[in-house]
Amino acid sequence: MLTRPRDREVTCHASAWVVDSDKDVRLKVCLHQTADDFRTVHHELGHVYYFLSYRTQPPSFRGGANDGFHEAIGDSIALSITPEYLKRIGLIQQIPPTQADLPLLLHTALDKIAFLPFGLLIDKWRWEVFSGKVKPADYNRAWWELREEYQGVAPPVNRSETDFDPGAKYHIPDNTPYVRYFLAAIYQFQFYRAMCQASGYTGPLNRCSFFESKEAGARLRAMLKLGQSKPWPEAMRVMTGEDKADASAMVEYFEPLLKWLKEQNRGESLAWTVNANPLLSK
Ligand SMILES: [Zn+2]
Repeated sequence: MLTRPRDREVTCHASAWVVDSDKDVRLKVCLHQTADDFRTVHHELGHVYYFLSYRTQPPSFRGGANDGFHEAIGDSIALSITPEYLKRIGLIQQIPPTQADLPLLLHTALDKIAFLPFGLLIDKWRWEVFSGKVKPADYNRAWWELREEYQGVAPPVNRSETDFDPGAKYHIPDNTPYVRYFLAAIYQFQFYRAMCQASGYTGPLNRCSFFESKEAGARLRAMLKLGQSKPWPEAMRVMTGEDKADASAMVEYFEPLLKWLKEQNRGESLAWTVNANPLLSK
């Protein structure tokens, strides 16, 4: 399913499936011709190509090296959607000058950097609920405490335990683990940097496209085909030469933006006060 059917209600939240643990791979998604959905379909196809790459492994090894790997593959490919690449495939006519990178990097950072604290707190909340540390009478308060502590955001109106705000996040009622997306946000830049290096690229990381690089593809495939037959640090090493999560590739990618923001934020206080929100009923 690639578009919303007219005759029935469906769940449009994008997902990728392997139906027979072999070659029957499918997407369930409602796509529009937008830049966001262009990235979404890369994300979902990342799952699909991982499925296809490890299908010859024994059944118990047909899975991602860890959940974060599965979520990172498509995104690491989508980072290769640069202006140069868009021109080569005929989606734009002119390559914008490098000054135009800042707004694009800021847009990407508002997605991927601002996501990190959110990506972490979903399962922090859930693990505290599952362990019994947070009791049902405190579910919503505990949620907003984490939102405040990690994200520095507060509810715009008064909240209480008659509200259940975590339930508004798809993955909570759907029971999909979430720390995978936090890990993937970091891994995808490591995978991307590794493929850029394999392709022989040497310029600023945010301008790298490894489109049509056989070497980058070989590096990716070597890791994908392992499935979960090796511990994840070994799979990571096959692709990147590294064996742990490392945010330095992320920092390198956003380097021009980081430099600009340091300038813009000079003299500003870069923090927020936790427990300062009067709308949270204690
Ligand atoms: Zn996914």
